[in-house]
Amino acid sequence: MHGRAEPNHQVSEAILPPTPKGKQYELKALGLRELAGVRRDDEPLDPYELARCARLMVVDFERIHGLPRATRRHLLGAGSDDWSGGACSRPLPNGWRLVILNPKHGPQRNNATLMEEVCHILLGHRANRLAVVAKDEQGKVIARDYNNADEEAAFAVGAAALVPFNVLRRLVLAGKTAAVIARRFNVSRQLVEYRIKVSRLWPEYKARHPRAAGQRSRRESNLKSASSR
Ligand SMILES: [Zn+2]
Repeated sequence: MHGRAEPNHQVSEAILPPTPKGKQYELKALGLRELAGVRRDDEPLDPYELARCARLMVVDFERIHGLPRATRRHLLGAGSDDWSGGACSRPLPNGWRLVILNPKHGPQRNNATLMEEVCHILLGHRANRLAVVAKDEQGKVIARDYNNADEEAAFAVGAAALVPFNVLRRLVLAGKTAAVIARRFNVSRQLVEYRIKVSRLWPEYKARHPRAAGQRSRRESNLKSASSR
């Protein structure tokens, strides 16, 4: 953008990530940012804005009635790590779908979860009539509402919409840490690290922050298992 202020030139002027998949996801992500009315690439995207475009209604967990007390206790307690949120696959009569986000995960993780649900809708993914239940690499049982390729695309496009490549690259080259970048875009540090890695910016990042980079692998595998739910 080089300091110019014309709106909505994000797509045509963007520098795209090097991998074919990265390019494809980035273009979709930039389209979503335009749809949300975000004008500058360094402006945070509000997923709640896009949720309205996707006709997703975010319901506060506390407003769910009729949940047995033991279930509620489990979802917010011992089981809190096992779910990040979800949408009802069947729309309401007015066409809207309900989404519930895990209140224990905090606003940054909620933003990523909501973006994934928004992407499933706006990318036109079709939910399986029965949730796919499978085991992840750690042998843990996971439930998915979409096929693997759609799950990957929704998470990747959502993450790219939250932290676009152009500005990510600029900030990494300027020596900003993942934590600083995360605060700017209202996302978790893990999500920024994931974006740095899939955008092939990790060598540049590592060169500037050798210590932070050393702790990456463990967190990244945590994020991977969290994002597949
Ligand atoms: Zn999903």
